[in-house]
Amino acid sequence: MTHLKHFIEGAHVDASDGARMTLVNPIDEKPYASAACGTAEDVERAVAAAHRQLHGGAWSRLNGAQRGVLLHKLADLVERDLERLADMDASAIGRSPMEPRMMDVPNAIANLRAAAGWANALEGRTIPTGGYMGVKTLSYTVREPIGVVGAIVPWNSPLMITTWKVAALLAAGCTVVIKPSEETPQSALHLAALCQEAGFPDGVVNVVTGHGEVVGRALCVHPQVAKISFTGSPEAGRAIQRTAGPLFKRVALELGGKSPQIVFDDAAFDDAVRGCALGLFVNQGQVCAAGSRILVHKSIAKRFASALADAAKQVKVGNPSESGVQMGPVAKKAQQERVNRYIQLGIDEGAELLAGGVSPKGNGFFVQPTIFAGATNQMTIARVEIFGPVGTVIEFETDEQAVALANDSEYGLAATVWTTNLARAHKVAQALQVGAVGVNCWSPLDANLPWGGVKTSGIGREGGLSGALSFTEEKVITVLLP
Ligand code: NAD
Repeated sequence: MTHLKHFIEGAHVDASDGARMTLVNPIDEKPYASAACGTAEDVERAVAAAHRQLHGGAWSRLNGAQRGVLLHKLADLVERDLERLADMDASAIGRSPMEPRMMDVPNAIANLRAAAGWANALEGRTIPTGGYMGVKTLSYTVREPIGVVGAIVPWNSPLMITTWKVAALLAAGCTVVIKPSEETPQSALHLAALCQEAGFPDGVVNVVTGHGEVVGRALCVHPQVAKISFTGSPEAGRAIQRTAGPLFKRVALELGGKSPQIVFDDAAFDDAVRGCALGLFVNQGQVCAAGSRILVHKSIAKRFASALADAAKQVKVGNPSESGVQMGPVAKKAQQERVNRYIQLGIDEGAELLAGGVSPKGNGFFVQPTIFAGATNQMTIARVEIFGPVGTVIEFETDEQAVALANDSEYGLAATVWTTNLARAHKVAQALQVGAVGVNCWSPLDANLPWGGVKTSGIGREGGLSGALSFTEEKVITVLLP
């Protein structure tokens, strides 16, 4: 059985107390690997290494252009290992490797290349002022790296989400300790080894594997960690805010969603069905931007729900290595139980089950692609992030009602608008309380675009210039010109 170790200051090391945790295959529920179960002492070592590189280490002497060159080299290596990295992320959660090969790893490469460009373009400003005691002054700002970052990552798209953070913070000149999810440490460890191969000084990128309450928490309380960049559940996000907030660390939170897909009566019907199905079923619905609330105009709602149910019934569930299988299991037992619990709740609350349902008992963490119709926005299945392949169709009559329903959620991550009316598309997109809107396309992902939510979906933006700037602090310098 493979045993994965931390990656600290360029070396693969065990946990300080030798403890390990077991990784379980979601397809057959058998243990297939173990990983170091990190301690606060391990975090201490990793943060110290990252801190040394920032304060007098080789990394601190590189300029933006040199950091950009390293990021491009890293992108080349990720490109070389594309299939290997995709297979790591896929097999760890039972996902078909096709999805990470087509989406996650190419996006990771794009993130690194985009950040390579920003590394040499994070400029300050020259600011006109009123002078100082009657004497002229020159004031300007410089962008400085914020410091050591703790990057805490979930299991659903591990490499892609890791690079949202790591690419941007390296561009800004920061160093990092990555805490991957308990289920998916492989690709973060491989990325760190590729950083070493690319020529990043040892200690710039470190990985400590283990549990959130121990390793994640140790990062949140460490005095030399300047920022926690977290992607995960609102529950863990709240815990992190409670821990890191009083210590005045910057905290960026990319949390969950209950994203609406609004289908107007003038939408291109088949495109909208395909797009909604994609937004529901990709990665078994384990996507923060999953379009799980399908708001459909009353005049087409029944036909649309039935077409979506047909699409759900056509999805072949099973072992992704078998031919024709499109959907593997969900990542872990707790996730399977969660999805089944909410499906049962949808039935109990009176929504009409058109496809799928509670999964039959058997080996592997499989769940059924499920469509509910005739639901209201007050039902639990319309309010809670299920994080599984479950869609809820809700009817509306007017544009105002569609917007009100879409915004009536504690979440505000993403939304999709399906319409052929240009003015309606812009008006509705502007009225939606979310971080990103796709018009006639579900969740367009691009390394140049900022990503993040409002309300319970989080605080801060990753991606593009916004992401790189979020790892810098603006310092102002004023010079007296007598
Ligand atoms: P999770 O919150 O359980 O875990 C995420 C990470 O946080 C893991 O590495 C975990 O070990 C760590 N963690 C847990 N408790 C912690 C604590 N108290 N202190 C510090 N670290 C802690 O989430 P998950 O189950 O891995 O992922 C699913 C969630 O992630 C969903 O809610 C999903 O919507 C969200 N997500 C959001 C985005 C986004 O961009 N907004 C992207 C992907 C996933």
